[in-house]
Amino acid sequence: FDDRDGWIWMDGVFVPWRDAKTHVLTHALHYGSSVFEGERMYAGEIFKLTPHSERLKRSAELLDFEIPYSVAEIDAACKETCAKMGLDDCYVRPVAYRGPEAVSVSAIHNKTHLAIAVWDWPSYFDPETKAKGIRLEWAKWRRPDPATAPSAAKAAGLYMICTMSKTAAEKRGFSDAMMLDWRGYVAEATGANVFFVQDGVLHTPPVDAILDGITRQTIIEMAKAKGIEVIVRHIRPEELSGFTECFLTGTAAEVTPVSEIGEYRFKPGALSLGLMEDYGRLVRRL
Ligand code: PMP
Repeated sequence: FDDRDGWIWMDGVFVPWRDAKTHVLTHALHYGSSVFEGERMYAGEIFKLTPHSERLKRSAELLDFEIPYSVAEIDAACKETCAKMGLDDCYVRPVAYRGPEAVSVSAIHNKTHLAIAVWDWPSYFDPETKAKGIRLEWAKWRRPDPATAPSAAKAAGLYMICTMSKTAAEKRGFSDAMMLDWRGYVAEATGANVFFVQDGVLHTPPVDAILDGITRQTIIEMAKAKGIEVIVRHIRPEELSGFTECFLTGTAAEVTPVSEIGEYRFKPGALSLGLMEDYGRLVRRL
């Protein structure tokens, strides 16, 4: 991925893609002191850009570091990077990290850096797979208690369990893994939130152990505007037998129907497919 043409925004300047490097003694590499965002530009506009930049700042604050750029400056830098790359439809990845100024558990002597890379990323799952629904297994790892880790942050350290869970699932032929939280409630997939359908009503977990997805918030608003009731509540795994539809939401996943989680089966239905189409129109402003 590092050997390609292009530009990456690093601490305020554009650096050729191949030269956009940090030292091996970067604090973030050793101690996980990094937060990031995942955004998408559709037809020339980054969907919910400011909420993403705000979440990036909040994630850093949850890890006790401050990004030395304002939300408006981060917004502008994301747009400039897309323009510099000549892309109208792309994935946008800002990452803020503590640098190589010192190697110590304490970060008192480290600076915070910000980099923004953008690239072509058409769809996480192809349309055919999406229409059928993807297959998930249960993850071995659980989302931590907010008293154990800053679970509300989009922090690289929290993705350790996501990477292990998703890699294990893919090795066994599944598309993703569903994680429980530390109490045993259904939490989220490794890079997306989850919704279930029962009798025309949507059910989704509260954000006390998961990332409060911007797509999740959008879907809740869209569903309510369509007159669909949304219940935000803790869901026990055994309750999955009572749901008929299930879908994931996320910037990369968009709205992706699910056909299987472990022993439970679902069928993409009118509600999931309707929201999937509505979301596709909303992000493209159609
Ligand atoms: N949960 C996790 C663990 C994620 O990585 C993501 C993707 N950022 C989401 C949920 C969905 O968040 P969003 O809708 O803001 O992309």
